[in-house]
Amino acid sequence: MIDPVTLTQDLIRCRSVTPADGGALDVLEGALQPLGFFCHRLRFEESGAPAVENLYARLGTASPHFCFAGHSDVVPPGEGWARDPFSPTILDGVLYGRGAADMKSALAAFVAAVERTLANGPPKGSISLLITGDEEGPAINGTAKLMAWLEARGEKIDHCVVGEPTSVAHAGDTLKIGRRGSINFQVSVTGVQGHVGYPQKAVNPIPALAALVTQLSAQPLDKGNAHFDPSTLAFTSMDVGNSATNVIPGEARASFNIRFNDKHTPESLLGWALDRADRIAKETGTTIEFRHSVSGTSFLTQPGKFTQLVSDTVARVTGQAPVFSTSGGISDARFIKDHCPVIELGLVGATMHKIDECVALSEITRLTDIYAQLLTDYFLKPLV
Ligand SMILES: [Zn+2]
Repeated sequence: MIDPVTLTQDLIRCRSVTPADGGALDVLEGALQPLGFFCHRLRFEESGAPAVENLYARLGTASPHFCFAGHSDVVPPGEGWARDPFSPTILDGVLYGRGAADMKSALAAFVAAVERTLANGPPKGSISLLITGDEEGPAINGTAKLMAWLEARGEKIDHCVVGEPTSVAHAGDTLKIGRRGSINFQVSVTGVQGHVGYPQKAVNPIPALAALVTQLSAQPLDKGNAHFDPSTLAFTSMDVGNSATNVIPGEARASFNIRFNDKHTPESLLGWALDRADRIAKETGTTIEFRHSVSGTSFLTQPGKFTQLVSDTVARVTGQAPVFSTSGGISDARFIKDHCPVIELGLVGATMHKIDECVALSEITRLTDIYAQLLTDYFLKPLV
């Protein structure tokens, strides 16, 4: 039998700091192949980003097709660990190591859960694992390309669980059914440089930028809705870079980020910001320009049969129905949401990306139980 703790330890020993694989996918493949999975190793290297190893493993070809998505890469350990972050250590029932929470334990829990489920016979459908080595990095040569590759092959996923550490106190207490989107803006306000003694001959961009910052920050974007908190806007910098005390600068810059719910799109937000900027530019005689980059759009898996099934399963295993949430940052679920309903269900995220990242062994067991029950329930009452 596969012990999810031992498998997690094997994975932690692999130094898979993005974009390195460190042998992590070999460890997974080594566990999946004996279970009958057909494994594809996919190395994507286009787009000027580091080349990344990915793994797609599928058992069976029939529908329904349940996919578990996750990542084998980890963030750099940083300084100050009490022990070697890549030598997994168990102390008082807690496993320490980089990736213990995010999310090597979840990978191991799912593989162990699959083995346990297969002991009762093959699934009435198919199970796959879609594992990227590029979640913590630029996320260019990972899940997005895996999904495109699957589509090109005509493989359709019916439902997907992402094993990100989305829980709060115990594995399964929270299901992420959506995420807010994130967009970064850079503003540049151009005026006319001049002497401070002759401000009438200059156009000072600073008051224009200050007005823009005030106006964009003051107005709430929305009030949220049944599934989402209100969208938020936060300025992250204002720069003039002018060290001269006798010069009105010609340019002022600022950056801000918007975390947005499903009431907005990147286009609608850009339009909203540009509208305000145009008015201020006219009033002040400046030119205001925006650059923006979208890290992810918002999405929601509408509560329905799939969310109910997962919720019922978690409640049966843990004795408590999970909370549906859409909070937190972005995840690779953003690349899956257009292909099939996707839910995030994993470990407690408290120590993710921190030094001395850890997970309680009891939580790995609990998550393995949840995943095993979920696979059983999923194929018992097909949703498609
Ligand atoms: Zn993660």
